Amino acid sequence: MVARTDRTTDPELLQALLQARRGTAFFARKLNELSDAQLDGESLLPGWTRRHITAHIGYNARAIARLVEWAATGVETPMYASTSVRDHEINFGATLSPIALRHLFDHSAVHLNVEWRDLPEDGWHHKVRTIQGREVPATETVWMRTREVWMHAVDLANGATFNDIPAPVLERLLEDITGAWKARGTDAGLLIKVTGTDLTFGDTTSASPVVVSGPLAAVVEWAAGRGAHGVTATGVAAHGGAATNEVPAAPKWI
Ligand code: ZN
Repeated sequence: MVARTDRTTDPELLQALLQARRGTAFFARKLNELSDAQLDGESLLPGWTRRHITAHIGYNARAIARLVEWAATGVETPMYASTSVRDHEINFGATLSPIALRHLFDHSAVHLNVEWRDLPEDGWHHKVRTIQGREVPATETVWMRTREVWMHAVDLANGATFNDIPAPVLERLLEDITGAWKARGTDAGLLIKVTGTDLTFGDTTSASPVVVSGPLAAVVEWAAGRGAHGVTATGVAAHGGAATNEVPAAPKWI
């Protein structure tokens, strides 16, 4: 996909771009393994078929490319006009023919990659605004795309799991998710531990927290609201007062 080389020479940024490109290639592989008829099947996201996931990933690349263009030109071009425009676009995209859907994914991914490749060193530091209203440097667009392609590749329900996602991506995802909880105060009394590491997130001040723990991939899968497979919980108070080990649902993230 990369015909020429990136203009940035920042090693950290190049590493981040590599992670995004690997994620895009991974999503492409899982998508291409699906027949046209299988695109009609359910994804792991409630109410969304695989068509919705594919349309969302395609339009997401276009939206992120608009931010990179903004950084390059200084002309403000928002990701989406509004969240309802974004949702409408996804619902429309899901009705496209299989070939058009596949083209949407392919072309938007190539376009975004070209925008990244051609962004000069200083352009990467220009500020843009996300759909949530956050002001971020253009470098952040790489992470915004990375987490979308890796996670939604799993959501395609075509055999990919959180174990396929590289550990650095999983760790940053967990930071994002638990950071969102903290900002909203929804993590009160909830402590997250990644077994085999010293990674601890959530409410570290509670004297008697509910502790949810498991391997990194399982913990992130749970935290992202995609089920409690492979995680365990302790300290959960049951109605009768006796403790249970039932894993609580993760607080909402987005
Ligand atoms: Zn998404």
